[in-house]
Amino acid sequence: MNKVLLLKFGELFLKGKNRREFMKLLMNNIRKKLSSYQFKLVETQGRLILCDYNLDQEDEIVEKIQHIFGLIGVAVAVEFDTTLENIEDEIKKVDFGSAKTFKVEVKRADKTFEMNSMQLEKHLGGVVLDAYPEMKVDLYHPEVVLNVELRVNQKTYIYSNLLSCAGGLPLGSAGKGLLLLSGGIDSPVAGYLMAKRGLKFEAVHFHSYPYTSVQAKEKVVELANQIAEYCDDFKLHVVSFTEIQEQIHKHCDEEYMITIMRRIMMRIAQRLCKENGLGAIITGESLGQVASQTMQSMTVTNDVVKLPVFRPVLAYDKEEIMSVAKKIGTYETSILPYEDCCTVFLPKNPVIKPTVKRAEYNEQALDIEGLIERAMAEIEVIEIKNF
Ligand code: ATP
Ligand code: MG
Repeated sequence: MNKVLLLKFGELFLKGKNRREFMKLLMNNIRKKLSSYQFKLVETQGRLILCDYNLDQEDEIVEKIQHIFGLIGVAVAVEFDTTLENIEDEIKKVDFGSAKTFKVEVKRADKTFEMNSMQLEKHLGGVVLDAYPEMKVDLYHPEVVLNVELRVNQKTYIYSNLLSCAGGLPLGSAGKGLLLLSGGIDSPVAGYLMAKRGLKFEAVHFHSYPYTSVQAKEKVVELANQIAEYCDDFKLHVVSFTEIQEQIHKHCDEEYMITIMRRIMMRIAQRLCKENGLGAIITGESLGQVASQTMQSMTVTNDVVKLPVFRPVLAYDKEEIMSVAKKIGTYETSILPYEDCCTVFLPKNPVIKPTVKRAEYNEQALDIEGLIERAMAEIEVIEIKNF
């Protein structure tokens, strides 16, 4: 008998031609995430088995596994050779704690086994009742579900506690984008949600030092480190927006300041994408949240880029975004009260329904190319590592 971790993946996504690719990627991601631990990872039809790990590190390993996209569940299981006698012996050893009710659920991937799932469930239920006369079967609301899986590798796995994992698709399976990462609540959540769909990313942050503080930048680096727990290592491009903002402040209509800022952010983002082979821009915008996030505002910012702009929290309420932020551990950092470059020189009445024409007219007063060139020349790249 061995103690192992049984990993379940979202099978739906793993059908067809991509299956092998996805599986390879998922296994690589697991190996990378757990690179500081010793273990073995084996694939058996429908499951991954992680074994030969240090039992003292089990909790840490399980927690890390729960943060890997593409997996839907993990359980600590006992593994042994499939024979009826072994299954009977092992199921008798289960510790029910204070629970009084149970049911047995069998999955028989190994169709050569002499009993079918239902027969085996009934039989094993009887074995447990004989060993623990005080226990009762409850098929609808059992306190403990004893999962018994007979896999095609001729091994059986028994576990009672399946923990949920991050779900989604293996990181990297959807390509690579660029996250516009501010210090707020929304953009780290946006990055997390796209990573959950398999999109890896690099990130860009715009700061307006000395109008924004060093702490404001450090806060963004901290957020980047926090999402790296799910999104793996990535590059954070830190761009100075100071000159750009000063020029906008000086030359553009006050109500168009944010619109123009966002159009320049998008242009810089697109350049970074081109230089780094990234195929989409990700933002934390949510429809109608503020003046710059109306349909018309998004039309005007989109007008300067050709790449797709992914806005995964577009349809989320603030409450919903906050609950994801709390789940992934970025919320407490996001609410630290440091200013963002978008809040420096904030106009009193930003335009709610901007037009491309007026944005372009405002931009004529700026040397957009020169401003972008200078900002691009001074980018600081911070390597965010997922330890
Ligand atoms: P967040 O909570 O993500 O800061 P927000 O509700 O404050 O969003 P805005 O300030 O309008 O909204 O920003 C909208 C989006 O633009 C952000 O989610 C982010 O993707 C991007 N963004 C804003 N400020 C910056 C910045 N300083 N650097 C990089 N991206 C930014
Ligand atoms: Mg913000």
